[in-house]
Amino acid sequence: MNAKIALLPGDYIGPEVVAEAVKVLGAVAQKYGHTFNFEEAPAGCTAIELLEDPMPESTLDVCRSADAVLLGAVGGPVSGGKFNNLPGHMRPEAGLLKLRSSLGLYANLRPAVLFDELKNACPLAERVVADGIDMIVIRELTGGLYFGPRGRKQTEFGESAWDTMIYNEMEIERIARVGFKTAQLRNKKLCNVDKANVLESSRLWRSVVERVAKDYPEVELSHLYVDNAAMQIALNPKQFDVMVTENMFGDILSDIAGAVTGSIGMLPSASLADGTFGLYEPVHGSAPDIAGKNLANPLATILSVAMLLRFSLGLSAEADAVEAAVQQALTCGLRTADIAAKGEKAIGTLEMGKAIVDYIRA
Ligand code: NAD
Repeated sequence: MNAKIALLPGDYIGPEVVAEAVKVLGAVAQKYGHTFNFEEAPAGCTAIELLEDPMPESTLDVCRSADAVLLGAVGGPVSGGKFNNLPGHMRPEAGLLKLRSSLGLYANLRPAVLFDELKNACPLAERVVADGIDMIVIRELTGGLYFGPRGRKQTEFGESAWDTMIYNEMEIERIARVGFKTAQLRNKKLCNVDKANVLESSRLWRSVVERVAKDYPEVELSHLYVDNAAMQIALNPKQFDVMVTENMFGDILSDIAGAVTGSIGMLPSASLADGTFGLYEPVHGSAPDIAGKNLANPLATILSVAMLLRFSLGLSAEADAVEAAVQQALTCGLRTADIAAKGEKAIGTLEMGKAIVDYIRA
């Protein structure tokens, strides 16, 4: 296969982890006889410095001309630093929202897997995770509260502000279908999360999900209110296979699901458009505190590459090989500092990347 992959390394540890992921793609290309052409473009602080725009049109054009996009992370230090004083639309985070909406990336897939070898990093009681965690949260990414009408006005009680959660049937149906199709490929259990006891948008959401369910009779559909869903992830995460939900609920629940696996350095994600186009990125940010020290765990980005191979390029065997290499590294006791238990020896970003490449080539 011949494929073009846009690379947006971004800021701080972004370029470090993307560099290792590109080496992994190189090993896959060599072993399986593919040609991957890479084109790099600036995003985030790097793009602000070069072009005074966190997501320049030229970068979006590079993404549009590719089969898939691999993003590192964008953003500067959380406090202080010159990028925190920029107006909202110039901030690196605004660039990410522009990227997602410009490319029509409406389905965000966040797997949360607890690797057996990393069970000691899990913050939940041992009895709760005895059977592991292997779930995927599907979050609607381009609608709802984050994109609805908003405003502020003066009232007799002082200033008031509002955001609006709006969904139409088309938006709900297409994300529901992603949920059912994903469940079909896994354990055929889909949990819809909403707040239909309170919100009108949730009542429409649920009725559309139930209508779409008729097209997927082999998938067992259940419903949870979002507050209970958050509690259930902490109490019994094993009950979940695939979860589908709207934008803000998904923002929160995918972080909870990721957090219970214990390691932000291990969490990949995919944001998909219609068809096969998608953007792949680790869940973590640019981690300025560890940048340039060979400390970043590249596995979240490498696991994102596995998702890229599977969803955008249709290369399942190659995706399996990348995931198997990550599993092998963990089984052999290789750990970066963030996932090393007390007293365990840690290796660096470069060494972990090289190990994955070697396992793929073996
Ligand atoms: P962060 O994820 O960058 O870091 C949180 C903590 O996790 C830090 O202690 C960091 O050292 C550690 N960490 C993160 N990734 C790691 C890795 N691969 N290996 C080892 N340790 C890792 O979150 P933050 O500190 O809140 O944010 C830093 C910057 O990243 C901010 O500008 C924020 O806006 C941005 N951010 C970007 C994205 C994105 O690009 N999608 C996501 C989240 C945060």
